[in-house]
Amino acid sequence: MSELVIKDLHVNVEENEILKGLNLTVRQGEIHAIMGPNGTGKSTLAYTLMGHPNYEVTAGEVLFKGQNILDLEPDERAHLGLFLAFQYPVAIPGVTVANFLRTAINAHRKAVNPEDKGISIPEFRKLLKERMDLLQMDHSFAGRYLNEGFSGGEKKRAEILQMVTLKPEIAILDETDSGLDIDALRIVSDGVNAMRGPAFGALVITHYQRILNYIKPDYVHVMLGGRIVESGGPELAERLEAEGYDWLREKHTQPVS
Ligand code: ADP
Ligand code: MG
Repeated sequence: MSELVIKDLHVNVEENEILKGLNLTVRQGEIHAIMGPNGTGKSTLAYTLMGHPNYEVTAGEVLFKGQNILDLEPDERAHLGLFLAFQYPVAIPGVTVANFLRTAINAHRKAVNPEDKGISIPEFRKLLKERMDLLQMDHSFAGRYLNEGFSGGEKKRAEILQMVTLKPEIAILDETDSGLDIDALRIVSDGVNAMRGPAFGALVITHYQRILNYIKPDYVHVMLGGRIVESGGPELAERLEAEGYDWLREKHTQPVS
């Protein structure tokens, strides 16, 4: 069983310490949610996990399948079985969603087995159709140019389609950006729920409690001031919905920085 283990992670952004000793373990088969007010470092965690160069790890480690992934390039992290949203945020003119997905699948297969000849076109078509049906997506979406003129919701759709075709062992999804509307939340939730099972784990990072009406997490964590200060089950999300974050701020008086 694969595990993502984050140990005492400290991260600087432009010389400011944003993550201040974060600990978290996500196993295959578990859905975790991280919640927290704006500016607490949730996206910093997501960008650090995906290997964004602006995020400087000053202490701690991140292990996936026992390997320290902080030394790996983003694509190497992906080939190990991690899925990190926002890997490909840019538009790629002339490359369709289908082409892009097929290239991504083949890159994964080659990383696992250098002799691999790639997925055949009929096999790929079958997989893509099955996965689009799973997400109730219109098949014409596969023929569109990736991210070119995509709305926020369509970018989400492309990202989630990528997730369900690559079938990662653990996915990390940061939902805080881009003012997600209800449709986009649905797309993300449908993808996570479709993948749910013993072979799939997810870390859903959000400041919207409402996504948790669609995805029922097994574990909920609250982040304040660059650390996880409280962990629990779904009842924790319900308490946050009812009471906000103030009771936690009082309980964990934030150090003056
Ligand atoms: P959250 O996702 O929880 O809202 P972020 O991780 O986006 O929080 O931001 C945490 C803190 O780090 C904020 O104070 C933010 O201003 C700062 N920060 C994040 N990214 C950058 C960046 N690229 N440059 C400078 N400061 C940043
Ligand atoms: Mg954020």
